[in-house]
Amino acid sequence: MTTKPQAMTATERDKPIYKTFGELADHGFSLAPGICIFIASVHTSALVLGMWLYTMAPVDWMWAGTLWFIAHFFIGSISTTLYSHRLITHNAVKHVSLPVHLFFNVFAQIFSVQGSVRRWAANHSLHHGVDRHGKKELDPYSATWFPDALRNFLWSHTLTHLYDHPQTEEYQRSHNVKRHPLIMWQDRWYGLLTTFWIFFFPMGVGFALGGFTGLFALAAASMLGTVAVQHNTWTVNSVTHLWGFTDGIKSSASNNYVWLGPLGEGNHHGDHHDFPRDYRNGFGMSGWLLDPTRYAVLLLNALGLVKGLNRASKHEEAEIVALRKLAELGTPGPITREASALRDQLEKTALTLKNEWVEALAHVEKLKKQSKLLQRAEAGRQDLLRDLELAQQAVIKHKEAFYEAVERLRAHGEVYA
Ligand SMILES: [Zn+2]
Ligand SMILES: [Zn+2]
Repeated sequence: MTTKPQAMTATERDKPIYKTFGELADHGFSLAPGICIFIASVHTSALVLGMWLYTMAPVDWMWAGTLWFIAHFFIGSISTTLYSHRLITHNAVKHVSLPVHLFFNVFAQIFSVQGSVRRWAANHSLHHGVDRHGKKELDPYSATWFPDALRNFLWSHTLTHLYDHPQTEEYQRSHNVKRHPLIMWQDRWYGLLTTFWIFFFPMGVGFALGGFTGLFALAAASMLGTVAVQHNTWTVNSVTHLWGFTDGIKSSASNNYVWLGPLGEGNHHGDHHDFPRDYRNGFGMSGWLLDPTRYAVLLLNALGLVKGLNRASKHEEAEIVALRKLAELGTPGPITREASALRDQLEKTALTLKNEWVEALAHVEKLKKQSKLLQRAEAGRQDLLRDLELAQQAVIKHKEAFYEAVERLRAHGEVYA
């Protein structure tokens, strides 16, 4: 099923709703002191400890810190794209196994340092709401609330995370939807889990292996990893909603085909917004080439750790692509009545042809499905024929055995007669 056509135009959707950050206070927003201090401290520590790591620390610890930093960045990024985003927020697969839930909730997702999975998923569902029902005031990291690109960039990229947002029924509903026991457990203990994995764990390992030098080196790596993974994810909310190359995209995001940092989420974000349930991020060949997270989903599927991949069918993809092509044309300027009538006719023809194309593709898909069912039935028939042959052989065997037994009885009668 394709996403429903929007009721509002892109211009209406992207109309600013606030003029300045100052106005936010009148609408129930307030700076969250705890989060401001946390984010400022992590950034300052990353800067100071990072400078120490790369200018003064012993070379061995500089390399150990760098490896830790890269591992932190990778684990934090993939846990966001693969688990929090595709598997949990968008239900990109029908079944996620317990080991996957355990791995990400107890360990990996903590390294993204972006709030619990439950909170992340609730906010991200509201982020997509603008494409479903147009309520962009609910999108926590909207890149169209303000009249200029700078404010929109600053808000969607970082400032949104520094504010307590007004509580809404929609957020509460979205938050309550994710009820897996491990997701709820992680939400409850998120503060302690973060303190352990982001602070105590690297510092403890560093101290055990190299005293205070090791402690500072791995603390530096952990802070650098935290800052890098946060900004990496935040670019998806800011960059891909502000700049891109795909004309005619009907959602609030765009494809830019270049931003690979977020492991697949950054470059085809427009495709993702046009079909969010898809386990892939990006249609066609470029989707294959630029979406590393897709390989991770496929690997989990091959190992049986997730089951039932959701994806747009070929005809749903064709519908999206065709509508983009038509939207690329835009609306014409003032033209004569005659020219306008001709244009209407051409438009009608194009729409009819689009529908015929999509229907033809849907028919091919239906036939392929039937052919697979028949193939399965044929394979089943071959098994049946094999069983039949064995059953017939068994009949002959038992019949012969019976006649032999009768013969033995007859012979017995003759001997003792
Ligand atoms: Zn988005
Ligand atoms: Zn999404």
